[in-house]
Amino acid sequence: MNEHAHMNCDELLGSLSAYIDGDLSPELCQELEKHLAGCDNCRVVLNTTKRTIDLVQTPLEKPDLPDDVRERLFKRLNLDRYLTQKPG
Ligand SMILES: [Zn+2]
Repeated sequence: MNEHAHMNCDELLGSLSAYIDGDLSPELCQELEKHLAGCDNCRVVLNTTKRTIDLVQTPLEKPDLPDDVRERLFKRLNLDRYLTQKPG
């Protein structure tokens, strides 16, 4: 059983927020970065996601982004959890 030898796009995108959070094991990080090196599509998603998080986490430099726009953007990027942070 070596199913994680090659991460596919779905797996990568599913782990992306954990990767950005630094919650991913070093092993998985490596797999993810290996995939990113060969997949333009996922690289674009990662960059977009990172930029979005930067935008939200640096309030001083944040442009005036209405709540509903931000919410829609987050939902599109599957980052709802950054919005709500509900326990459980
Ligand atoms: Zn990919």
